[in-house]
Amino acid sequence: MNQRVEFADKAREKPLLSIVVPVFNERAMLPLFVKRVFPTLGTLDVCWEMVMVDDGSTDGSADYIKDLVTSKPGVRLVKLSRNFGKEAALTAGLENARGDAVIIIDADLQDPPEHIPAMVDCWRTGTDVVLMQRRSRAGETLFKRWSAHLFYRLLSRTSRTDIPVDTGDFRLMSRMAVDILLQLKERNRYMKGLFAWIGLPTQVIQYDRDPRAAGDTKWDYPGLVGLAIEGLTSFSVSPLRWATIIGLLAASVGALFGVWIVVKAMVLGVATSGYPSLVAIISFLGGIQLLSIGIVGEYVGKTYMESKQRPVYVTEEVVENPHRRYQSSENPQAGERYVKAV
Ligand code: UDP
Ligand code: MG
Repeated sequence: MNQRVEFADKAREKPLLSIVVPVFNERAMLPLFVKRVFPTLGTLDVCWEMVMVDDGSTDGSADYIKDLVTSKPGVRLVKLSRNFGKEAALTAGLENARGDAVIIIDADLQDPPEHIPAMVDCWRTGTDVVLMQRRSRAGETLFKRWSAHLFYRLLSRTSRTDIPVDTGDFRLMSRMAVDILLQLKERNRYMKGLFAWIGLPTQVIQYDRDPRAAGDTKWDYPGLVGLAIEGLTSFSVSPLRWATIIGLLAASVGALFGVWIVVKAMVLGVATSGYPSLVAIISFLGGIQLLSIGIVGEYVGKTYMESKQRPVYVTEEVVENPHRRYQSSENPQAGERYVKAV
């Protein structure tokens, strides 16, 4: 933290909470979101700012947020130059957040903003991370719930990083947690894994996940499968080990089978008529080889993408109202002093 920001912190009496909201084509959602989030923020005993990251929306979401910036104190728009994906949007939000604590929340109201005060209370007891764990996922298909359940368990089995089950991006992180997270410079940003990697004291609050209030989910199944492969390969090399083990097993079975054929022919005098079994073995081994090459390819591809060292996202513009940065009931001047200091 640089000196000027430290000065600003002293000027402020209350801690600053940043709310980071990734937004991609949520024009229908935003008015509902705003209607629910602001009354909740108003009840907090902290200063706050809201960083809304427009992830290349094409439905006018950015214009709506620009209007919000002028009409509501504390809102900032970070507009990305195109759609970079939620993981990149979250990274942009975290890099632009200045709070002593940061809460990540979806714009679609699936993460109820009414939980924010409880999260802040929990943070004030001294914990660095407050995780919101889904007790239920209303409004999602049985298949999605089942596949999510399976994925989270598979992930926690394969990875040495303990990625908590049934938690999404809805969480609070202390400034220390955010700073550590932002030091992880990888381009493939599987945020749930990165969040878990940092460790630190964590408390879990359970909640019921609501259905989306309007609009459609941005995830289709191919996208989710991609995210799942990303998750598995980002945080573990055990798929490579599986390939080795399956290869070893297949080779052993093949060798034993070969010995068996020789023994059968020489000892028992039975000539082998092996065409069907040959076809079966060749296709089995061919399948395993392709699978293994695919797994290796995933890691090679990842290394290739990382080696390019491209930025995770490109910011087109940041829009904020410099004189109305925070809502603070007791010390309305604090925000302005902070602005001048920085
Ligand atoms: N989102 C984003 N960029 C994307 C896709 C989604 O910023 O490329 C945002 C979206 O606007 C929402 C949040 O990420 O605020 C969660 O998206 P969504 O509801 O589609 O995902 P789900 O809840 O179905 O996992
Ligand atoms: Mg959603």
